[in-house]
Amino acid sequence: MNAKETKYFHALQILEDNCTGCTACVRVCPTEAIRVRDRKAQIDPNRCVDCGNCVTVCPFHAILPRSDSLDLLSNFKHTVAIVSTSYFGQFTEDVSYGVAKQALFALGFDEVQEEAMVTDFMIEMIRDYIRANRDKRPILSSNCPTVVRLIQLKFPSLLPNLFHQEAPMSILTRYLREKIQAERGLAEDEIGIFLIVPCAAHVTAVHQPEGAYKHLQDGAFSIGMIYGKVREHIKNLQNHPPTIDTYPRGLTWALSGVQAELVDCEDIRALSVNGVENVMEILSRVEDHYLDQYDYIVLRSCTNGCVGGCFNVENPFVAMSRIKKMIKEGENGEVDVRDLEELYGEGEFEVAPLTPRPVMELDKDIKTAIVKMKQINEILTTLPGLNCSACGSPTCYALAEDIVQGKAAIEDCVVLLQRHSREDETVEG
Ligand code: SF4
Ligand code: SF4
Repeated sequence: MNAKETKYFHALQILEDNCTGCTACVRVCPTEAIRVRDRKAQIDPNRCVDCGNCVTVCPFHAILPRSDSLDLLSNFKHTVAIVSTSYFGQFTEDVSYGVAKQALFALGFDEVQEEAMVTDFMIEMIRDYIRANRDKRPILSSNCPTVVRLIQLKFPSLLPNLFHQEAPMSILTRYLREKIQAERGLAEDEIGIFLIVPCAAHVTAVHQPEGAYKHLQDGAFSIGMIYGKVREHIKNLQNHPPTIDTYPRGLTWALSGVQAELVDCEDIRALSVNGVENVMEILSRVEDHYLDQYDYIVLRSCTNGCVGGCFNVENPFVAMSRIKKMIKEGENGEVDVRDLEELYGEGEFEVAPLTPRPVMELDKDIKTAIVKMKQINEILTTLPGLNCSACGSPTCYALAEDIVQGKAAIEDCVVLLQRHSREDETVEG
């Protein structure tokens, strides 16, 4: 795939030397974005939604995260890390919440803030939005960038159902930038605000300014990338535990099930769904009006929500259990959200409606698309229908489509090739 053909950034890259062409990634991609050609995997950037399935499944570690370098910090006079809630579930239980947070300062940040600080505010904002938009129910959560892209790509009729307000890390970024400017007398470009994130989708969201995900941050570091360095600093900190504000109640944001429970109340019925296959099934049912009884659906592409992000290091079930323990045992710091409430009241967090990504269509011209559809069906009758992926396309239908689009040849079907060579041998014999 030629990079010039796409305008989409992605936080993944294929290490060709490691790729054996095994097609494991081809079979798990929810948008059929991967093909193996000449024994090497290629990702179509127009179709990829950064779900991370391919990263997790590749047995040869051939798909790697793209994350910014910590060297970026030296470009700014004042640097801030905004930490995703899932970060705190990544350590063994002898590492306290406070120590895990304090260790981030040692990476070079002047200030460390948490997504968890604004969870209570977000819950109230979501409830308020649902009550004001009953005609669009069910409202679909927009915090998971993979879900938003899936809707743009495969379920564009549901775009109006998305929660059209900024995500917590963007709200915090905007608020902090203005506050630091005023308090320290710094210019906007002297302040560097960075996210520490669990998945490819959030790195992409920082670099791909679009709709709900405005380009407010200066970079993003994956949890996996900084983990080793953080662990080194933790060893020293454990001997001198810091006194530092923490917000355990807000850690619920990492857990999709708990977030839905918090939004759910007397006049709001909420449902929680996680895992990209489940999300797609639920979106189909919303399209068919089978889930109109719900007011709000929390959708997360990863297992158990953000704790399942492909750039995390801990198993999502273990991370979830640790976070639940922190919520139960931790003491919540005070957060003054009056400024945020005021900004919300003024409509400052509203985002422009998102547009569809029509890359799944066969052709822009409807007549040509119909002709291509007929050609696909004709080719399909000659293919074995095994959906084995040995050709490098995910299914026989996808191979037929690739042939019609000039991206593959019928000879790529290994089963047909074998069948023909057996027939030739019989004729010769
Ligand atoms: S899973 Fe995909 S990227 Fe990994 S070795 Fe197999 S074909 Fe290559
Ligand atoms: S990240 Fe997800 S959507 Fe993108 S290529 Fe990998 S499996 Fe497909």
